[in-house]
Amino acid sequence: MLVFKQVAGLQAWLDSERREGKTIGFAPTMGALHQGHLGLVEIAKSECDRAVVSIFVNPTQFNDPADLEKYPRMPEQDIALLIGAGCDALFMPPVDEVYPPGLDLSLQLDFGALDQVMEGEFRPGHFGGMAMVVKRLLDIVQPHRLYMGQKDFQQLSIVRDMLRQLGSGIELVRCPTTREPDGLAMSSRNLRLSPAMRAAAPVIYQSMLAAKAALPDEPASAVQARGLETLRNAGLDPEYFDLVDGNTLLPVEQYGDSDFIVVCVAAWAGDVRLIDNLVIRENPAVA
Ligand code: AMP
Repeated sequence: MLVFKQVAGLQAWLDSERREGKTIGFAPTMGALHQGHLGLVEIAKSECDRAVVSIFVNPTQFNDPADLEKYPRMPEQDIALLIGAGCDALFMPPVDEVYPPGLDLSLQLDFGALDQVMEGEFRPGHFGGMAMVVKRLLDIVQPHRLYMGQKDFQQLSIVRDMLRQLGSGIELVRCPTTREPDGLAMSSRNLRLSPAMRAAAPVIYQSMLAAKAALPDEPASAVQARGLETLRNAGLDPEYFDLVDGNTLLPVEQYGDSDFIVVCVAAWAGDVRLIDNLVIRENPAVA
């Protein structure tokens, strides 16, 4: 696996690959890699000639400086995992390669409600920083396909809308959420859970499965109230448990309101903030 820290070296290699007609699949990450990230590499490898991963803990998407400080960093282990997964190239830039002084990266995009609800409400500024770094990384890598996880469903919705607004030809591939055997969605943040909170955290998945079972027969408000109560009873501190339309991210009131419904959850497990989601209803036509 090639490892690049500078934009110029990465682009020289990518240019030569493209000249040879190779297709490029790209998965941006913040490192502390786990099986969920490696799943993106696996799908990229199966669909493209070359799989490229970036590891960059993007300072502009952390609204809480303590969260940025505490974000796990383990580059040697990440490199070993990526080699094992068959990744072709890793881009691991310092901050000033991504944000060189003087480069104007401001994005004049309006995401409507997509970046206002849920994470947008509880992490002000997060999606602006996320969209900026994804746009910058795409400008650097210029992949044919972009691989992102369902785990961050709202992020995926915003990136899809950004690509549409920019008229980009890059294809966005939604990759399924990889879970621990007990249902907890894999996350770099899981490393920071206390033993008690690690034991409690699978209740998030269980509460979403219960919501999926209940929504056809009950109003969303009742399903939501029960979900929040289940999380609190398990010792978590939920921020939201929202049943939303998977395209607009606006709340649904009944199962019949939409043929694409997703339950999205954010909850504190001690001092670790976890997010997860589950598709409750999906018409294959919008998959
Ligand atoms: P992160 O390093 O957390 O910024 O995530 C980088 C990419 O990996 C994003 O597209 C995430 O949605 C994806 N990802 C993170 N965790 C998982 C998971 N458990 N299953 C699938 N994809 C994931």
